[in-house]
Amino acid sequence: MRAAVLHEIGQEKLEILDDIEAVGFGPGKVRVRVRATGLCHSDLSAMNGVLPQPAPFVPGHEGAGEILEVGEQVTRLKPGDRVVICWLPACGACPACRRGQTELCLAGFMNAGTPNFRRPGGDVFGFAGTGTFAEEVVVDAGCAVPIPEDVPFDIAALIGCGVTTGLGAALNTADVEAGSSVAVIGCGGVGISAVQGARLKGAAEIVAVDPVASRRESALKFGATKAVSPEELAGAKQQVTGGEGFDYVFEVVGRSATARTAYENTRRGGTLVVVGAGAMDDFLQLNMFELFFDEKRILPSMYGGGDVLSSYERTIALWRAGRVDLAGLITHRVPLAEINEALDQMRTGTALRTCIEI
Ligand SMILES: [Zn+2]
Ligand SMILES: [Zn+2]
Repeated sequence: MRAAVLHEIGQEKLEILDDIEAVGFGPGKVRVRVRATGLCHSDLSAMNGVLPQPAPFVPGHEGAGEILEVGEQVTRLKPGDRVVICWLPACGACPACRRGQTELCLAGFMNAGTPNFRRPGGDVFGFAGTGTFAEEVVVDAGCAVPIPEDVPFDIAALIGCGVTTGLGAALNTADVEAGSSVAVIGCGGVGISAVQGARLKGAAEIVAVDPVASRRESALKFGATKAVSPEELAGAKQQVTGGEGFDYVFEVVGRSATARTAYENTRRGGTLVVVGAGAMDDFLQLNMFELFFDEKRILPSMYGGGDVLSSYERTIALWRAGRVDLAGLITHRVPLAEINEALDQMRTGTALRTCIEI
């Protein structure tokens, strides 16, 4: 079957190969025919080495498709079921799962050193244990979450990562208070989802911050009350909050520089929500006086910061009721053969979400 492979960390181009096989099928596993996958910024971060990932590997972790085959002991799925791929499955038994914080379950990382694919040249890994830039993946049954018939594959794929992450940051982690002021730094698919989450919670002011003009325009359509470039943020802070700083600032880039900017634009006693996935050697500097004296709450938000499956269900309910716009997030749509062009669009920031149809 076909898959897009990165041979070495640091390379920019993927090679589409047709001699790949998804491996590991057996008890407790399912084989999924991927139908749609989104390009998430974390795919680029794995390709360029910001996020740890063995190579060669198939990127992609935001996918949806249908079950082809189920292994022994898999009782709740059958061939033909439509599923979203969850890259962070919950084991249901560890302390984090028992507390309801399934986003902190580490079970999905236990197979991190195990290849997901094979080709005549050797083993190939899958990003985050999945690797959805492929026609087929083999995953734990817990990574295949059934979706209702009315949810198209492209929408389901978005729910598999970006939308769950961005909406959850506002709804679960920040639990944005009605009437509050919000700034969202970084307005790709995840940032726009945070904008939509803040709007749902009744934020009075939502300032979208992004260097790319087309993304600022999009943010206004999705509920931002103002959209500014990073250089204009100081002025917006003055105008919207009288210089005090925002009640909530979402950092959706994953860099210490933007996290520092976010911290400085959060009001004393306000909340900084860290959504972006950054590098292990990129350090955020805070001095001990400001940390204590300004009483700003720093809340990291991993995969939406709440029970993952309930977040999926909530997103589907909101989408079905027309309360969140997911189709509008898909600004580009391409076949797997054009994935390198799609990655370039993502690097230049013109895409909110690109859907790869497989
Ligand atoms: Zn667990
Ligand atoms: Zn992602």
